[in-house]
Amino acid sequence: MVVRLREHYGIRDPAVLEAMRAVPRHAFVPEALQGRAYGDHALPISANQTISQPYIVARMTELLRIDRDSRVLEVGAGSGYQTAVLAKIAGQVYALERIGDLAREAQTRIRSLGIYNATVKCFDGTLGWAANAPYDAIIVAAGGPNIPEPLVAQLKIGGRLVVPIGATRESQTLVRVIKTEKGIEREDHGACAFVPLIGHHGWSAHVGKPSEK
Ligand code: SAH
Repeated sequence: MVVRLREHYGIRDPAVLEAMRAVPRHAFVPEALQGRAYGDHALPISANQTISQPYIVARMTELLRIDRDSRVLEVGAGSGYQTAVLAKIAGQVYALERIGDLAREAQTRIRSLGIYNATVKCFDGTLGWAANAPYDAIIVAAGGPNIPEPLVAQLKIGGRLVVPIGATRESQTLVRVIKTEKGIEREDHGACAFVPLIGHHGWSAHVGKPSEK
């Protein structure tokens, strides 16, 4: 898996490659799918959600430009796989997941792997986690209709927000936002397809409409 990330997908950051090597992806997928855990694909987890393709996890992590001094917020912890990868690189990871069962299972898995610098909480991540702000980096693993304003507010100046944004629930562009003294800089990093970001500054739980602001 790591050879493919480096040779085929061009992931270069040594800390990202080492974290991808260190975290056992099979521990985060349902037992029946463990034989496919290191394949080049997303896989279903419980509650109709997915564990992201390894390439997407590596690419988004690389775009965050984090190190041991970084405080990171993750929105959409799902299985906790991305959380574990971030925790191998960053100083502290705060992760939010809107589905309570997933949040609890993710926290248990991460602890059982001996990772203590990551906390998973059940909460609407489109509102961020103000108590631990400001963050050096924020990663969103679900696709929203626009950039959630509270997440920009909770970034440090110079901080990076990586989030999939799309006009429909089905497809998105991977966007990196860098917060500056003057406002934000926005870069596009290609097409992607995530499960919908559901919440106050995301899509509504009812199919079709963006949420009320
Ligand atoms: N990185 C995860 C991906 C999980 S899929 C992994 O590798 O396992 C995205 C997750 O985002 C889903 O579990 C979904 O429930 C969650 N999600 C969607 N909207 C959310 C919100 N507003 N706040 C927190 N989590 C959200």
